[in-house]
Amino acid sequence: MLTAINQDGCLVNLVMDEPQRNDRFYCPGCQGQVRLKQGTILRPHFAHVSLKSCQYIYENESAQHLELKSTLYRWLKHEVAVEIEAVLPELGQIADLLVEERLALEVQCSSLSIQRLQERTKAYQDQGIEVLWLLGKDLWIKDKLTALQKQFLRFSQNMGFHLWELDLDKQVLRLRYLIHEDWHGQVQCLTKAFPFEKGRIMAILRQPYLSQPLLSFQGRMDQQLGRYIAQQLYYQAPKWMELQRQAYEKGENLLAQPLEYFYPQVRLPQSPIGFAQIREHLDSYYQDFSDYYQKQQSKRVQQVYSPAFYKQESQSNLGRKALL
Ligand SMILES: [Zn+2]
Repeated sequence: MLTAINQDGCLVNLVMDEPQRNDRFYCPGCQGQVRLKQGTILRPHFAHVSLKSCQYIYENESAQHLELKSTLYRWLKHEVAVEIEAVLPELGQIADLLVEERLALEVQCSSLSIQRLQERTKAYQDQGIEVLWLLGKDLWIKDKLTALQKQFLRFSQNMGFHLWELDLDKQVLRLRYLIHEDWHGQVQCLTKAFPFEKGRIMAILRQPYLSQPLLSFQGRMDQQLGRYIAQQLYYQAPKWMELQRQAYEKGENLLAQPLEYFYPQVRLPQSPIGFAQIREHLDSYYQDFSDYYQKQQSKRVQQVYSPAFYKQESQSNLGRKALL
């Protein structure tokens, strides 16, 4: 941790202050004694002398976590009232960064259970605090979305499903947006990177919600998808066995279908347990998305858009119908 109470009862943090080495220090959460550590691998930090009395567990922090937390703190401090390692007794947890007492930024560098993530998210929401998870290296999106990553997804009409990544090596805050999955389960999305401590961080974090020109990209389509599906069925991949079962119920066979049957190939992420960070109802988005591609004459290319686009298309269709 980067904050402690010194022997005079003042809160000190190692990003801004240079505390006296020989002072005694205490944990702002449990009041237990902590020690100032100045090693060679980790930046200076405080560690509990004895951990057993502390319910605000954030020990064994990685160098990555400490560095990212202090970088974000310096960046935020220029423009907003921000607290680092804010103790929230009602929640029994410590927010990595708390902006103006209503936005918590959590630098998440290690995996956690989906249940724990859901609980922590809900605890914040119940207190009227919005929480934004910023993901360290181990949690970045690689080829496919894991079940855990789906629980970090946020949503906006302009940037669709999106999430934030922190890259310590490249020194950037990265926004992955218009996140989709294709039939292979591979992620297709757009990416924007913002260098640390350049530009206004609050404006950057708000970007998904600002009005902006329509976003779009051309989806990658697999012209040999039939071959892939045949292979998946041959190896009895559960997802494809289930889709084939559903096809049989309609008197169809996936292996006999033309490529157009699988259009659109770039699809919206699915999560049977919902999305912990998203409170909007997404049903109409999924419906508008599906309707739009069904109506396309040419099914040889797929252009992917912001959710706002599909909504507009569906409303203008309704308008046209009303006129007739
Ligand atoms: Zn403690």
